[in-house]
Amino acid sequence: MNIPFVDLQTQYQSLKPELDAAVLAVMQRGDFVLGGAVAEFERVFADYCGAKYAVGVDSGYSALELIVRAYGIGPGDEVITAANTFIATTLAISNTGATPVLVDIDPETYNIDPAKIAAAITPRTKAIMPVHLYGQPVDMDPILAIARKHGLRVFEDAAQGAGARYKGRMVGSLGDAAGFSFYPGKNLGAYGDGGAVVTNDAAIAEKVRLLRNIGQKVKYYHEVKGFNHRLDTMQAAVLLVKLPHLDGWNAERRRAAAAYADLLAGLPLVTPTTAGYAEHIFHLYVVRVHNREALMEHLKERGIASGLHYPIPIHLQPAYSELGYKQGDFPITEAYAETILSLPIFPELDDDKVAYVAGAIHDYFAAQPEAKRLAQAVAAD
Ligand SMILES: *Cc1c(COP(=O)(O)O)cnc(C)c1O
Repeated sequence: MNIPFVDLQTQYQSLKPELDAAVLAVMQRGDFVLGGAVAEFERVFADYCGAKYAVGVDSGYSALELIVRAYGIGPGDEVITAANTFIATTLAISNTGATPVLVDIDPETYNIDPAKIAAAITPRTKAIMPVHLYGQPVDMDPILAIARKHGLRVFEDAAQGAGARYKGRMVGSLGDAAGFSFYPGKNLGAYGDGGAVVTNDAAIAEKVRLLRNIGQKVKYYHEVKGFNHRLDTMQAAVLLVKLPHLDGWNAERRRAAAAYADLLAGLPLVTPTTAGYAEHIFHLYVVRVHNREALMEHLKERGIASGLHYPIPIHLQPAYSELGYKQGDFPITEAYAETILSLPIFPELDDDKVAYVAGAIHDYFAAQPEAKRLAQAVAAD
């Protein structure tokens, strides 16, 4: 068997007639830039998130950066976020001239640890940007309480969280504004880059609309110095076809995750937990294991792809040497970066395929002597 890390083909085949028709219709209408499908998608996506406004943009990165800019945050300001995230989170902060301030993660959820945020607040702090990493919602209530106390904004990085819920509420509706990514491999993926800003704040939605479209509402009348970060109409047409299937796909991801948890129980590796407040959508299925490179290699020999999210924490990336962090600053993030391993997960990963991956992992450990297995179990905890 061959198991890719994500499978975009099977999903395309399952919706081919509708997807092909939707894209062809854009070509026939010719409304390529900010066409009807963009406005329509913005309407249904805002609705889906339980928020008033969605503004389509050209990537998840752009969504986050335009949020930071729309709130007037820039040079001299600080925004707090997690040390374990994809670099687009911090680039969205630093490319405005603001400074990302990092906080270590919670060992259970792998998300920013709300208890460590207060110590990172300075007079320059303007916002907190929690990341719903791997599809598990961040524990938002303590973060919203800290933000209220210190007069800070809360921006959700919901790039990996489309459709997840926190205490029954949709991710993307929990803070001041949220950024979503429709990168093809995300849970709601377009056929190219795409993203959205979601907010209940009319003025911020309006500001993001201006910023994404060269600062104009009326053609050639430029109110501010904007950018070109518009969501492509063909991508919006694809997303309109896919959005009604998102909850079903997320349920299939949960099914696959539950099957993994079942089949991997008792092995010397740590499987992910779902917090009591969370409806996890398993964008990624991340385990922790001692000597993960050897397991990766073994899986590769069995035709199974795997990944690392992420191998190098933000504060140890050469790109961020200017922040002045050093090894040891975020011990949990650093320890996890050495042991995390992302197994394949996608809605079409059926129980046979999960069993094949789990079987390969069982074989890997079975081939090792008992003493080593015990040492691994300790190291994994
Ligand atoms: C994918 C991702 C982004 C950026 O999304 P793009 O659409 O690739 O620009 C931001 N944050 C996180 C956590 C992501 O996973």
